[in-house]
Amino acid sequence: MTPRPPAPLALRAGSRPRSVAALLLAVLLAALLPGPSRADGTAAYGSEGIGDPYFPLDGNGGIDVQHYDVHDSYLLPERWLSGWTRLTVRATDTLAGFQLDFLLPVQQVLVDGTPVDWSRPDAHELRITAAVDAGSTHEVLVRYAGRPDAVGWDGERNWLADSHEVVTMNQPHMAAWWFPADDHPQDKATMDVHVTAARGLDVIANGRRVSRSVHGRLATTHWRSVEPMAPYLAFFAAGHFEVRHGSDHGLPWLVAVSEQIPSATRRRSMRLMLRTPAIVHWLQGELGRYPFSSTGGLTTSLSPGFALENQTRPTYPVLGSAGVTTEVHELAHQWFGDSVAVQDWRDIWLNEGAATFMEARYAETHGRESAQAWLEGLYDDNPDGSAFWDLDVADPGPDHLFDWQVYQRGGMTLQALRHRIGDDAFWRLLRAWVHDRRGGNGSTEDFVALAGQVSGEDLTGFFQAWLRDPARPARTRANGLR
Ligand SMILES: [Zn+2]
Repeated sequence: MTPRPPAPLALRAGSRPRSVAALLLAVLLAALLPGPSRADGTAAYGSEGIGDPYFPLDGNGGIDVQHYDVHDSYLLPERWLSGWTRLTVRATDTLAGFQLDFLLPVQQVLVDGTPVDWSRPDAHELRITAAVDAGSTHEVLVRYAGRPDAVGWDGERNWLADSHEVVTMNQPHMAAWWFPADDHPQDKATMDVHVTAARGLDVIANGRRVSRSVHGRLATTHWRSVEPMAPYLAFFAAGHFEVRHGSDHGLPWLVAVSEQIPSATRRRSMRLMLRTPAIVHWLQGELGRYPFSSTGGLTTSLSPGFALENQTRPTYPVLGSAGVTTEVHELAHQWFGDSVAVQDWRDIWLNEGAATFMEARYAETHGRESAQAWLEGLYDDNPDGSAFWDLDVADPGPDHLFDWQVYQRGGMTLQALRHRIGDDAFWRLLRAWVHDRRGGNGSTEDFVALAGQVSGEDLTGFFQAWLRDPARPARTRANGLR
């Protein structure tokens, strides 16, 4: 994500205050919920959360979603979404039932073709009664209808639409507004997305377009993502878009710009979107092979207040003069955040710090200041005692995921590491990280361990000073500052 500096939280659609008491209560409730089996040996329900300490209801226990087949209809003037999703679900425990994350009203649930009982323990959870054995795979079909713009959860109202256009983009929560999901980056899945809308509208989503069929006044567009994806990175947009596509070094690309944007601005937006293949090509030279089989971008006329790294096809607000930097950021996320996702949300600096560092790397390889000069400038701009150094960026808390320090101090950490261990070890580290964990997840501990392994140095003190201590790191050689 790229918020607009310098007040990213104020501009985030999903930001809200959260009391420590409410968080502790949620953690406590999650801990008290039944595990996969009871003491008497009978099967229980899978847990309500996958175990993320920041968002105890995100994801679910006992299941692994392998594929989503989403069939949504969206009527823009009425803002009405209806449809069904068929999930291919593998049980990882023997269960009496399991849960999905979803916010819209549900009409029916079928498991392997048979209607089953279901309930809503709270607004975010869909509890499905279906006995499943560990290791078995099931087709779970959920039918639903409702107004996603009328739905909020935990202070978030993430539906972004007017009567001309809709784009589903947010982080860390978006899926539950338009399809039932195991909504956590630890459970990635492939996806087919079929969206039915008025026939005059374009529908864009992740991956590659498979087909479009017109039926009466409506049309259904089918998009396919063949590489596993975290649910929040799935998106669709519907509206009037200028669409361009092609292939660059064998990589298919497709970009789209809303026709709701005034024409002069729209032309600039399209010029920026058309730079996508070249930026991806540059990133491949830095980081190794692009992790997905298509790329692109979409500029919306709506005003999300941020850009987002939707897998294969980031979505952007109308970009100004710093537009290329934002594109570098979102496209760098294809490696850091999308292909290698966070293990838990507290690891967010691995996404945002790396994407911010790649902005600085782009600048230094395109005739602007070196990344070390960028680091030292920020270091000098934020003196000892500045609030900039207060945040533990390796554990910022759920209300501070997208704070400016997570980006800047995170990015500075990587450049300082580069200066300390040298270019050779540093780039071997980044390339090993995205290569070895391609399509998976990684935590701060994993990254710190790999950095130590690749460099052969004890970096414990370095990472403590740069990520965690509530103070400006000392200006030392060990901290990458001399
Ligand atoms: Zn970002």
